[in-house]
Amino acid sequence: MEAVLTRHIEANAPLDLEAYRSLGGYRSLDAAFARKPEEIIEIVEAANLRGRGGAGFSCGLKWRLRGADAPRPRYLVCNIDESEPGTFKDRYLLYGGPHQIIEAVIVSAYALQAEKAVIFVRGEYGKGGHGLHRAIKEAEMAGLVGSNICGSGFDLQMEVHISGGRYICGEETAMLNAIEGWRPNPRHKIPRPSVKGLWQHPTTTNNVETLVNVPHILLNGSDWFRALGINGGCGPKLFCVSGMVHHPGLFELPCGTPARELIFEHAGGLAEGRTLLGFIPGGASTAFLLPEHLDVPMDFDPVAKAGSRLGTASVIVLDDTTCPVRVTLNLMRFFARESCGFCTPCRDGIPYLAQILATIASGEGRAEDLVLLEELSGIIALQSFCAFAPGAIIPLISSLHCFHDHYESHIDTGRCPFDAVNKSGA
Ligand code: NAD
Repeated sequence: MEAVLTRHIEANAPLDLEAYRSLGGYRSLDAAFARKPEEIIEIVEAANLRGRGGAGFSCGLKWRLRGADAPRPRYLVCNIDESEPGTFKDRYLLYGGPHQIIEAVIVSAYALQAEKAVIFVRGEYGKGGHGLHRAIKEAEMAGLVGSNICGSGFDLQMEVHISGGRYICGEETAMLNAIEGWRPNPRHKIPRPSVKGLWQHPTTTNNVETLVNVPHILLNGSDWFRALGINGGCGPKLFCVSGMVHHPGLFELPCGTPARELIFEHAGGLAEGRTLLGFIPGGASTAFLLPEHLDVPMDFDPVAKAGSRLGTASVIVLDDTTCPVRVTLNLMRFFARESCGFCTPCRDGIPYLAQILATIASGEGRAEDLVLLEELSGIIALQSFCAFAPGAIIPLISSLHCFHDHYESHIDTGRCPFDAVNKSGA
């Protein structure tokens, strides 16, 4: 597949407005303004563009459900607050192609008839956020953002909001609180942001990778988009691969590409003599998959059928020299640190899970700890306020099941079996 989303992206050397336009950038504005907003929503829905932030909810359906008669003002928030461990796809889009993002936000805001767009950027991506801000100013000077864009009669204000820099800020309702200047605790999901979002006005939130597909769909059609995917997937997909592979990195491939091809062809496979222990398919809040799942197409439904989630499509690879208990501990420490602290089960429960895991990882655990981990996880997931804690325990529970023998071995031998492997330089 020819690159679509990464075609005009130079890592850390983004095209300026003139260069981007000379390569066909901003052409989708004409294609958009020639259509009625609801026609664009129909095209995007027919393309089966699914949310690339992790949940895979249909973008066109989300836009249609907001309703053409939603009261004004209406907002569009483009989410670039990716913080999932192993996930770096949005960073690439931000640092390498700010005008691609601006173009996508304009046509999407037109489809939604939103008068204001906020682009919410991860705190650690501040430099990229400033570059995006400069690109918005360039676009404003050229009449592409602001009043009566390209003579279409459509007005759009656009601004960048740089996040305070915590994982929870990217959760869509916490993000709305953050933009409003409040502490970024998640809100109740009902009413949805599309009904009561920013300052209680209808707000549509979309991940940046989702949005940058929209100009291409408008220019090439929904059939073209669907045909780009394979094994039932639709469109191009950005995959991040990290962990024990030769060539970790970002790969733009057809949605539905099997994990085997991704890991062993594009990411160069494992070091000689190593075997695959397992992999996380979509960032830290997804379940582990095993070698038997290598032929699963990396698309939302097949990965769910295999018992995990595509999530952010950020694959973290473990080989037979990786201690899965320590990998899981690493993830749980991340979640313990990033809990927003609003509800007790999450704030106090996840650090406790991490503490028990640390005991097991160091060889000082007891068999009862495995039962305790499972029981506590269930309680925490059920009693906590938002999806953060349930997301955090997904890799833990799956690790306990997939790598049960490794946990037992830590407990039975009183040490981490991988210490010897790694110290011998294997
Ligand atoms: P969700 O399924 O609750 O919602 C996904 C989106 O669809 C939201 O915008 C939601 O408002 C909308 N939606 C869902 N049902 C709807 C309905 N009936 N009508 C209208 N809109 C509807 O998921 P979520 O909690 O927003 O996101 C969870 C995902 O985020 C996880 O799968 C995880 O992989 C991912 N995630 C990503 C990152 C990252 O760094 N990109 C970080 C953490 C989590």
